[in-house]
Amino acid sequence: MKFGTKAIHAGIEPDPSTGAIMTPIFQTSTYVQSAPGNHHGFEYARTQNPTRSVLEKNLAALENGLDAICFASGLAAMDAVMKTLAPGDEIISTNDLYGGSYRQMVRVYGKFGIQAKFVDMTKPVNVKKAISKKTKLIWIETPTNPMLNIVDIAAICDIAKEKGVMTCVDNTFASPYLQNPLDMGADIVLHSATKYIGGHSDVIHGCVVVKDQALADQFHFLQNATGAVPGPQDCFLILRGIKTLHLRVERACSNAAKVAQFLLSHPKVSSVNYPGFRTHPGHKVAKKQMRDFGAMVSFDLHANNMEAATKVLSGTKLFSLAESLGGVESLIGHPASMTHASIPKEERMKVGLTDSLIRLSIGIEDVEDLIADLDQALALFP
Ligand SMILES: *Cc1c(COP(=O)(O)O)cnc(C)c1O
Repeated sequence: MKFGTKAIHAGIEPDPSTGAIMTPIFQTSTYVQSAPGNHHGFEYARTQNPTRSVLEKNLAALENGLDAICFASGLAAMDAVMKTLAPGDEIISTNDLYGGSYRQMVRVYGKFGIQAKFVDMTKPVNVKKAISKKTKLIWIETPTNPMLNIVDIAAICDIAKEKGVMTCVDNTFASPYLQNPLDMGADIVLHSATKYIGGHSDVIHGCVVVKDQALADQFHFLQNATGAVPGPQDCFLILRGIKTLHLRVERACSNAAKVAQFLLSHPKVSSVNYPGFRTHPGHKVAKKQMRDFGAMVSFDLHANNMEAATKVLSGTKLFSLAESLGGVESLIGHPASMTHASIPKEERMKVGLTDSLIRLSIGIEDVEDLIADLDQALALFP
């Protein structure tokens, strides 16, 4: 089955009790047993919920995995991955990691004796050099946020395999439509389904997808044992969002390419980060591992200051100033004060995350309107 067909059909059967074509929202906390231990495979809704099970089957198919395990948010899914580690273990991660992931690694798990090392993963050799006997997990994010750097997933997974280290790819920015890390050798794929997978900015949700039964069992154990499960209504909304994932991402990518081109030729813009440009250092790798170049674009201003950036950020009318990404509507954001505020300034500046860097999540509106909106906002400062 190809992607669009899987999005609509994989794991989804009409409800056997009613014929409902859409997976019902099983809003129940428990299930009746006719005799002790005699039930329909469902006992208590932290452990199993039919709406969630259908979603998990569907997500597994989208990432070409064996199983998916859903959580209440992307960071709750990450928390489960972190709980597969033990005190003394080390993680190697990218130096421009999503701010919330950085915070969890350093400020939550640092306390429990798990140490994270951050390297420039665009050069796989840096990962090789950083691996020690204690390294148990390599955490990849690509494209990265907000610099849109590209990490070669297959190259890093090869290095990890040689050393017997587990790999997890945060695939949120690409979505399963653009990139399938399990096929490239990764052990775990993680999504903040809050973003492209849900796609409508109306739900917080996360998942991991794996191809190995033992790992799947471990995550189902953690899902039940630590309890950060999504509610059935949220699972329903994610299932609904997935039905148009391929259409939304296709349109958003095509819009993003045009917006990036517009920004590149704008006299007030000093640089544009978009992996679709042939001049982008990760372009070749992106072309190899992604179906398209994604719908995230970030750019910097010649007027290298917060005041100019603020004019643009508060001057757009269609682009809403908000955290998050991957919804049908276009968003504009200021990484330095929003998504990346928890990262120390010196760390930010090292990777080019300046105070005037602006991040766009391109939606599925008509691109002419998006470009006109940016054009008028860029005219608001000298
Ligand atoms: C949003 C996001 C997360 C966290 O997901 P939540 O659903 O907000 O908990 C993790 N990684 C990336 C790349 C994200 O964009």
